[in-house]
Amino acid sequence: MNKLLIVGTVAFDAIETPFGKTDKILGGAGTYIGLSAAFFNLQSAIVSVVGDDFPQEYLDLLTDRDIDISGLEVVNGGKTFFWSGRYHNDLNSRDTLDTQLNVLADFQPKVPENYKNADVVMLGNLHPLVQSSVLDQLESKPKLVVLDTMNFWMDCALPELLDVIKRVDVITINDEEARQLSGEYSLVKAAAKIHAMGPEFVVIKKGEHGALLFHDNQVFFAPALPLEEVFDPTGAGDTFAGGFAGFIAQSENVSFENMKNAIIYGSNLASFCVEKFGTERMLSLDKQEVVSRLKQFKSLTQFDIEL
Ligand code: AMP
Repeated sequence: MNKLLIVGTVAFDAIETPFGKTDKILGGAGTYIGLSAAFFNLQSAIVSVVGDDFPQEYLDLLTDRDIDISGLEVVNGGKTFFWSGRYHNDLNSRDTLDTQLNVLADFQPKVPENYKNADVVMLGNLHPLVQSSVLDQLESKPKLVVLDTMNFWMDCALPELLDVIKRVDVITINDEEARQLSGEYSLVKAAAKIHAMGPEFVVIKKGEHGALLFHDNQVFFAPALPLEEVFDPTGAGDTFAGGFAGFIAQSENVSFENMKNAIIYGSNLASFCVEKFGTERMLSLDKQEVVSRLKQFKSLTQFDIEL
């Protein structure tokens, strides 16, 4: 089985949406990526850090899905990374209310020995120096390295972020962040500028408006599934990234054509994530539901025009 190495926050989140509010619940980029990638036939491991305030039952949710957590450090006396956010009424934008790095501030990641030859590496959202350190520890070149990040790191660690961006094959980033990183309003121009920073493939996520994949002068668009109800978009971007990287790791094919499928898988999994608060929907999801929604995606995007 192919190996997917995942890096990203494992966190407590407090979320406010127009439909309600949660106290500290399970969250984190690494968590969402792991739960999403668990739908593929592969071995996966998460490199991250939590404090000893992090409940065992949350760790069990990961190991129950066969996610290797030997690289998930638990710091005695430390507090887990905490993020809180409030969504606007349209659910397409949000304000970060609080980010407490806690144990993430001094984190030195350690890649488990048996993942130093991972086939695919998914560098989820956290400090770019941690993302770089993970790449430094690898013993063989992965088939694909994917990076996800957000405005927080552009604001507080831009030089380190630009250094790690140079080293990856794919970047997944949302539209506003692509604009911030490139200084370009047009997403086509933004993708070209980001491409020039290093990544061969640039994926721009547009929330309920789907995702764009840019490579050289080719572009592919995948819609998001129009859903009757969106409850909480938290983690949708990470779930998308987990589906994208998971599909590539399983299929061992890093061509542009296959990445189109990876984007559809990512969008499909993200469409479930937003249906309930936090990780709730991903935890109740089964493979059959994933397959049947893929059929909906296919009919949503298929047409037959004679040219
Ligand atoms: P998304 O909605 O896909 O952008 O991801 C939301 C998740 O990212 C939440 O579960 C947070 O715990 C996590 N998160 C928020 N801010 C950061 C940050 N600065 N670095 C890493 N992870 C973060």
